[in-house]
Amino acid sequence: MKLNEKVNSYLANISKSKLNAFISINKHAENDAERIQKKIDAGKAGRLAGYVFSIKDNIAVSGMRLTCASKMLENYISPYDATVVKRIIAEDGLIIGKVNMDEFACGASGETSYFGPTLNPHDTGRVPGGSSAGSATSVAAGLSDVSLGSDTGGSIRCPASFCGVFGFKPTYGTVSRYGLVDMAMSLDQIGPVTKNVSDAALILSVINGSDKMDNTVTGTQQDYTKFVKQKITGVKIGVVEEFFEGCEHAIEKNVRDGIEILKNEGANIVKVSVPKTAIAVPTYYLNMFAEFSSAMQKFDGLKYGFRKDGKDINDTVAESRSALGEEVKRRILLGTYITMKEFRGKWYSTALKARETIRHEMIQALKKCDLLIGPTMPFTAFKLGEKIKDPVEMYLADILTVSANLSGLPAASIPLNVSGLPIGMQLHANAGEEVKILAAAAAYEGASK
Ligand code: GLN
Repeated sequence: MKLNEKVNSYLANISKSKLNAFISINKHAENDAERIQKKIDAGKAGRLAGYVFSIKDNIAVSGMRLTCASKMLENYISPYDATVVKRIIAEDGLIIGKVNMDEFACGASGETSYFGPTLNPHDTGRVPGGSSAGSATSVAAGLSDVSLGSDTGGSIRCPASFCGVFGFKPTYGTVSRYGLVDMAMSLDQIGPVTKNVSDAALILSVINGSDKMDNTVTGTQQDYTKFVKQKITGVKIGVVEEFFEGCEHAIEKNVRDGIEILKNEGANIVKVSVPKTAIAVPTYYLNMFAEFSSAMQKFDGLKYGFRKDGKDINDTVAESRSALGEEVKRRILLGTYITMKEFRGKWYSTALKARETIRHEMIQALKKCDLLIGPTMPFTAFKLGEKIKDPVEMYLADILTVSANLSGLPAASIPLNVSGLPIGMQLHANAGEEVKILAAAAAYEGASK
């Protein structure tokens, strides 16, 4: 099919869709498709020609709205492209639109968006997972080929797991964050959401590598595509027993079956332990609250976005911030509270120490094997409204995903071949060893069909 026909059929499906996956559509999508198709016909197209992308709405695309699914930025137009977007366009990837998310990436369900919840394409009474809800939904529902999401505590992997697609969070510092609206900048990473492993390897190959606009990215650009076909004979995979504690029975059973498939592909399965998983959620939230409240200070109604004038400057800032949703406000307040000077040496410094012990334990476990394995989420997609009234209940959903962010390690969620609601199996590797994850995920994908 020609790219313009494909784009037209996606546009028609998006406008009919009831899943609320998109916030904005690229008005130039049809022109872009014609331009790229001409390059394809002339044999001069880039590596991503033919791919139709959706982009999470916290990543800047020049000339399009960048809302972070918030009333605060409802009408904010990005004046520039994020580095990842620039690189995708340079390789002739086509951006069809910007997708829904939890407001400012705060959530694990896709329900906190100012534009209303995104629905799970497998069961519209259930959440798609968050915060990259629209990324996973658009790929799973066939409203885009692939997507970019961001992952601070699991926001790529959670919706990938709930929607049955592949989601990859690279090592911290592999992909430039320039043009990503920061949530907690020591934890945030951009990554791909795709239907298969080779598409993710290709996208990662295009978007990774040093960028003068983000000095946390140091390595030269790598090509990951050739590793997808690598055999996994002898690869040591550590099953983390703590990752199964408290999981639904069906999750445990299917993930253990998935591990068996990797064993049949030649992997050497061993048992490892990461007991500090028990403190991962409070450690993540205290670290994230502190960084998030600092990152959100720029949304004060003075320079960007929504503004409501009050009687003086303080009042104006307070009135303008009334545009923020309940969960975002809760996090700003908690982050401001725990970093007050009265608590110096208490909450935040304890959280930093706890983060270091978790990182140390994950790295120790990865000295005993090449990859760590377990479920991505302790349960399948829950019902809309089920957890949104109880923030702590929602936070606990992140128990298995936050350790990768706290440790800066790469991790991916692989969709298991199951009937009924999707289940994700999670792989972690040492920093910089994304190729090991890609090879194992591809081996599972090939063997489970
Ligand atoms: N559920 C996590 C949170 O609400 C994940 C957020 C993220 O990765 N952006 O903080």
